Amino acid sequence: MATCATCSAELNPAWRFCVYCGTAVTPTAVVEAAAEQKPRVNYVSVIALILAFVGGVPAIAFGHIALAQIKETGERGRTIAIVATVLGYLWLVVFVILFVRWAGGL
Ligand SMILES: [Zn+2]
Repeated sequence: MATCATCSAELNPAWRFCVYCGTAVTPTAVVEAAAEQKPRVNYVSVIALILAFVGGVPAIAFGHIALAQIKETGERGRTIAIVATVLGYLWLVVFVILFVRWAGGL
């Protein structure tokens, strides 16, 4: 719901200005309120999570892209992106350990 920046009263989206205090309702405020009302899940974070179950590096890359996009757009999916990124790094650690062991065994 859009609220007045001056008096915090709930605003009807059709109003051009707040009927309580007369402050002009800026279109951005209404757009932001609409975005808050129905936040989409960032699709890159979902891709990152899927990749996190397949392998490391792509999940890390997509996870960071998703986090950057979510920071910019305020979309949902931050937890998904963090989980995907962490899983990606865990993959990487496992790969490094396996590689070191394999190299040490030569
Ligand atoms: Zn007001």
